[in-house]
Amino acid sequence: MRLFSATLATETNTFSPLPTSLESYKESVFLRPGEHPTDAPRMCTAPLFVARQRAKAEGFILIEGSCFAASPAGTTNRADYEFMRDEILGQLKAAMPVDGILFGLHGAMVAHGYDDVEGDIVERARAVVGPNCVIGVELDPHCHLTLKRLKLSDVIVCYKEFPHADVVERAEEVLDLVLKALRGQTKPVMSVYDCRQIQSYPTTLPLMRAFVDRIKAMEGRDGILSISIAHCFPYADVPELGTRVLVIADGDKAKADALATKLGEELVSMRGKTMPPSIESGAAIAQALEFNDAPVVMADPADNAGGGAPSDNTTILRQLIERKVERAAVGPIWDPVAVRLCFDAGKDAVFPLRFGGKTGPRSGQPIDAEVQVIALKRDCWQGFGPTRVPLGDCAAVRVGGVEVVLISNRTQALGLELFTNLGIDPTAKKLVLVKSTNHFMAAFGPIAKKVIYVESDAPLSRDHRKIPYARVNRPIWPLDETTSPGLIF
Ligand SMILES: [Zn+2]
Repeated sequence: MRLFSATLATETNTFSPLPTSLESYKESVFLRPGEHPTDAPRMCTAPLFVARQRAKAEGFILIEGSCFAASPAGTTNRADYEFMRDEILGQLKAAMPVDGILFGLHGAMVAHGYDDVEGDIVERARAVVGPNCVIGVELDPHCHLTLKRLKLSDVIVCYKEFPHADVVERAEEVLDLVLKALRGQTKPVMSVYDCRQIQSYPTTLPLMRAFVDRIKAMEGRDGILSISIAHCFPYADVPELGTRVLVIADGDKAKADALATKLGEELVSMRGKTMPPSIESGAAIAQALEFNDAPVVMADPADNAGGGAPSDNTTILRQLIERKVERAAVGPIWDPVAVRLCFDAGKDAVFPLRFGGKTGPRSGQPIDAEVQVIALKRDCWQGFGPTRVPLGDCAAVRVGGVEVVLISNRTQALGLELFTNLGIDPTAKKLVLVKSTNHFMAAFGPIAKKVIYVESDAPLSRDHRKIPYARVNRPIWPLDETTSPGLIF
């Protein structure tokens, strides 16, 4: 048995002012066969990582393809996408005959000329391998679960957790499902219900937590092989945006249809109930300061680099400085130029620095302040589950009582190492402001005595009615009140 695995992944915010090019992939994940690290998967490479570990015991040969992944930002350059895609397809052709494919994709990647990159990849791979090869795909739940990719693959599995703590587990599941299908033990059939809604579904809140626990308990019994909730990725202007429920049953399409419908209807009834409340920044700071325990973790989801925002909005930071807040830490602010200036000034230097507030109109104005450089680190990183996320060269500066982590590789706050690798102990702070929607909860949730989600003026508005969609299929909630959810596959 011969399996092929590769990754091509990013999450595309089509409204982002930051184009994505080959350079963006080289900064994050750009691994040719033989270059994959053995310690842990990188972004979206878990299928290859898992298959490599299990190949011998399961009795298959793994042919490793290239893995390319970039941090979320704007639309990927067309020629660069085609270059990476064609490299992978060339490897697949060279690997033939192949019995199965394991793709580690994101699911919300857009390139110029390609609204549905994953559909394009699966379509071209299918043309190479023919109808009998079993194609398994792992996706981020923040994806567009398009009909094209459903028609052309055999097994699709989304992570269930948000924060995405189960990337490796779900990759194991994709491999299990592909192997069982190849051995003739199961016959996966997929059904999809379209909820016709745009919403965020952190699984750290009780309603979604209970829902996910319940669907997990349904898997592996009564002929149900797998259940995925495609949350949607709201910051993309593509036709098939929206929440969809995918059920994979063993040979019984009617059973998959029935369960997808039941779960889809439940999600429709959860409209407006799965997102945490967010409050305006001034009130949020006041609430944090009044709280009699520490640290209070404040999140700025609207400036989440993980959703394609620049992560250099200064609005809340400026308020912290102006209100002379003590024992505060802020990160990450993406500003490679400011990092360079800090390295030039040197550790412990006190000098006037302009930082943040640069990339777009919704970044706010830069901060001009006399700063002290408290730490400098080349090739810094933070952890996210088992993966290490590179931050590039980093500097930490102090302005009054506020310590700010400046990074060179744009990414959201994920692990405590964002601060601790620069000598800042977030547990010793009164207030920690992180730029992230919900992934920060995996590491910062356990240390937080209180978590506050702030509604700022950064680009990723939490009110989806404010996003200037032009191409999304309508009607869809909350843009439209009346919608027609139902089975679509
Ligand atoms: Zn995601």
